[in-house]
Amino acid sequence: MKKLVVITGASSGIGEAIARKFSADGYPTLLLARRIDQMQQFDLPNSLCSEVDVTNINSFKAAIAAAEKKFGPVDCLVNNAGVMLLGDPSAQNPLEWKTMIDVNITGLLNGIHLVLKDMISRQTGTIINIGSVAGRKALPDHAVYCGTKFAVHAISEAVRMETAKYNVRSITIAPGATESELVSHVTSDAIKDGYKGWADSIGGPIKAEDVANAVHFAYIQPQNVCIREIVLAPTKQEP
Ligand code: NDP
Repeated sequence: MKKLVVITGASSGIGEAIARKFSADGYPTLLLARRIDQMQQFDLPNSLCSEVDVTNINSFKAAIAAAEKKFGPVDCLVNNAGVMLLGDPSAQNPLEWKTMIDVNITGLLNGIHLVLKDMISRQTGTIINIGSVAGRKALPDHAVYCGTKFAVHAISEAVRMETAKYNVRSITIAPGATESELVSHVTSDAIKDGYKGWADSIGGPIKAEDVANAVHFAYIQPQNVCIREIVLAPTKQEP
């Protein structure tokens, strides 16, 4: 049997596509998100689904322990769970900043913390962090979201440097506009409509499967080859 792959935010969008891609290639998977019914409906073989909020390190830890008991050690963690609540910082409810910081940064760090020690001691393993084009360039209405995604890129690269000598890979996959539920959570209708209009003007977003293919490609390289970063976006996307 292939080794265990853990995917956070697996209930929709990019995470769902990653789960389906790895499962179709024969990997046992652990799917984590809050909407467990949604993940269970995928009905993937050799897969466990667990209702986990990534900001809660205890339930995150328990889910990994249960999956490792069944499938063996985690060889790949895909830190994908994330939220994008675009807004003007002078008008936005500060609780939206807290949600993004908690999920996009603390949730991702929780994942790294839970698997890294064992990967180092086994001298193998891969952590794939889903960054963003918004983790490489600042954009209007994206102040806090960009802040969290810049953090993802920084954390991912620092961890890569720290763990290189242990043969552990830290990889950043940075998508541009991708079809998913992400934009639906934006609470400003004006910003949401503006985003959708922009996405239409560039011929639409890429598919979640396109991002899943990039994640899978980076992972299946030999362990001594680390694709440090992939940035992929619609060809017509300028920023
Ligand atoms: P979706 O909204 O479709 O998916 C987000 C996923 O994250 C869902 O499965 C959701 O599950 C999960 N999630 C949210 N909050 C939590 C939480 N507290 N604990 C556990 N899981 C959580 O959007 P995408 O698929 O687009 O987003 C996936 C990642 O891709 C994000 O990190 C996003 O920032 C990034 N990204 C997306 C881009 C895009 O254009 N779509 C572009 C660049 C990056 P549930 O609600 O069930 O908990």
